[in-house]
Amino acid sequence: MPARVSLKSLKRRGGLFEGIKSNIQALAVGVKYFIDPQRSTLLYPKEYIEHRPGYRGFIVFIKDKCISCAACARICPSAAMKMVRVTEVDPKHPDKPRQKQYPVINYQRCIFCGYCVDICPTEALYHTPFQDVVYESLADMFLTLEAFQLEPGRPSVSEGSPVVYEVDEERGLIKRRR
Ligand code: SF4
Ligand code: SF4
Repeated sequence: MPARVSLKSLKRRGGLFEGIKSNIQALAVGVKYFIDPQRSTLLYPKEYIEHRPGYRGFIVFIKDKCISCAACARICPSAAMKMVRVTEVDPKHPDKPRQKQYPVINYQRCIFCGYCVDICPTEALYHTPFQDVVYESLADMFLTLEAFQLEPGRPSVSEGSPVVYEVDEERGLIKRRR
């Protein structure tokens, strides 16, 4: 049964004086932020976030270290990492091509949990300390084996300035230039 509210029981609070006071306070806050703006929006690509060491950003694959165990693909909780088969030719035995398998990643699905990097027994995967990469299409987010071995391009670093985000007790989340 819905609660019954009696209008008579609601007391008027403040009145005219409180209303004027609230408006003055609101104007004061507006003037304060006009004089000393503290915008937290990242102005990409003019700015980029400088993450702390250990940040789990985009992942890069080092093919020469990989032993094709597939542990990374098996542990991935979002089916973002898959193994692909490739044919390789050893220059010493050009007449005996070998089938090998290596991981590739789909950034449409990756949640950057880092399980694949942690479980790799040969450190063939590593995190970069950034996530602000732009892809022009969804298809581009499914990396080829070749693309997975390169650190992604990051236009904000060449064009912009580093910033960090901090929590200020009075103003909340604030952005600071380095
Ligand atoms: S970081 Fe997590 S979600 Fe992304 S590919 Fe690795 S295991 Fe999968
Ligand atoms: S866990 Fe490491 S060694 Fe094993 S397939 Fe993945 S990248 Fe290669």
